[in-house]
Amino acid sequence: MAYGKDIYSNILEEYDEKRALAERKADAFNDALCSRSPEYAAITKRLSGIGVRLLLAGRSADKEAKIADIRRETEELRARRIEILESLGYKEEDADVHYECAECSDTGYTDNGICICLKRRLAEKQLEASGLGTLCRRCGFDNFSLKYYNDTPETRAHMEKVLEAAKKYAAGFDPAESRSLLFIGGTGLGKTHICAAIAKEVAYGGSTVLYTGAQAMFNDFSNERFRNGYAASELTDKYFSVDLLIIDDLGAEAINQFSVSCLYDLINTRLVKGKPVIINTNFDGAALREKYADRITSRLFGEYAVFPFKGKDIRAQKLMDI
Ligand SMILES: [Zn+2]
Repeated sequence: MAYGKDIYSNILEEYDEKRALAERKADAFNDALCSRSPEYAAITKRLSGIGVRLLLAGRSADKEAKIADIRRETEELRARRIEILESLGYKEEDADVHYECAECSDTGYTDNGICICLKRRLAEKQLEASGLGTLCRRCGFDNFSLKYYNDTPETRAHMEKVLEAAKKYAAGFDPAESRSLLFIGGTGLGKTHICAAIAKEVAYGGSTVLYTGAQAMFNDFSNERFRNGYAASELTDKYFSVDLLIIDDLGAEAINQFSVSCLYDLINTRLVKGKPVIINTNFDGAALREKYADRITSRLFGEYAVFPFKGKDIRAQKLMDI
C-alpha cells in the first residue's frame, strides 16, 4: 500500500508553501537592504545576471578569457556585497534563503531521491491518519519503562526479552518478510505501548501502518456489507492492503457469525499474501479458543509469533507513583 494520495498531495502542498515562504522572507530582507544601499541593489542586480552572461560567454570565440573575467568579477562583487552587509550589521548568510531543510531546500527531494525530512513528514501524517497520532506522541521504545515489571525476577527477565524482540522486529520490519505477532496478556501490561512504538518505527521506515480497535474494524465490515452487499469497498480495503495492520483489543468486541467469518478471511488472506498483522488481546489462549472458531485460533497460534505479556497492571502501579 502506498501512502494515501491525499496525504501525499497535502504534504507536497505544505512543502510548496514553506519553500515559497522562505523565499519571500529572503526577498523581503534583500529588498529592504536594496532600499538602504543603492550599491547593494546594483551588485544584487549584476549578480543575478551572471548565469545568462556565462551562458553567452560560453558560445563566444574567446570563451575561456570571457568566462575567467566573469568569474573574477563575480568574486569581487560577492566580496563587496559581504562588506556592505557587514557595514549594515549583518552576516553573509543572513541574505540567503533559509529553508527548513538544508538537504533538499524544502523540495522534499535530493539527488538521491526522497529526502529524509519528507519521509518523516509522510510517516507523521500517516500515523495521524491511522489513528496513532496521539498514541505515538506518548509511546515509543524510548519511554517504555521496565521498572513496572519488577514483581518477580522472572517477569522482569521475560519482559526484557519481549522489549528486545519488539525493537528488533520494528528495526528490521519488512512488509513482505516480517512475521505476524500475537500479544497476549491482561490489561495494563504495556501491549498497546509496544504496538505504538513498533508502529512509529515502521512508519518512519517508510512502510504503511494501520492501527484499529477490533470493534471499529468489525463495524467497518458490517457497514460495508449493509451498504454494498459483499462487494469490497474503500471501507475495508485498507485492512487488506496496508503493510502492517495492528488490531487492538481483539476479544472485547461483540462477535457473531459474520464477524468471525470476516476475521478469518482477513487473517487468512494476509497470511497467504505474507502481509504481517499484530494482534493485541487481553484474552488468554483458552478464552480465545472458546470465543473464536478453531480455524482462526489454529492460525493465530500456529502461524503468529506469540508474546505473552506478564506483570501487574501498569496503570494501577502508575497511580501509586509519586
Ligand atoms: Zn529535506
